[in-house]
Amino acid sequence: MIKRALRTMSATGNSNSVSPLSERPDGLGTAPHDPDSLTLWMADGNCRLHPPTTFFPSDGAGVDRARKICKDCPVIGTCLEFALEERIDHGVWGGCSERERRRILKRRRDEVAADAEVEVALS
Ligand code: SF4
Repeated sequence: MIKRALRTMSATGNSNSVSPLSERPDGLGTAPHDPDSLTLWMADGNCRLHPPTTFFPSDGAGVDRARKICKDCPVIGTCLEFALEERIDHGVWGGCSERERRRILKRRRDEVAADAEVEVALS
């Protein structure tokens, strides 16, 4: 539920648009799960037990608090890959800050480019 609100925020690029479940109109929090959803794993995330704002820290101490929650999360890998694939710019996902995710994406791009150079050199 938390991540659904976060995804909305990411899509709009507006952190003010986050709407925690507790602020939603009655009934919206009880909608049946979509079995085809790519985000069913979110229901197992440790963050479901914390306010969404925990995962949008404004300083390093806040990032550390969010990371501690993520550390033992059973879906940490899935969460991180989701954030990377969806290019989510804001918040802590999969135990990584925005900056850490940018580094991961850059490293992956660099690895792909290096692999392509090797293939060209070998052809
Ligand atoms: S890794 Fe962190 S942000 Fe992702 S689902 Fe788990 S607790 Fe939530």
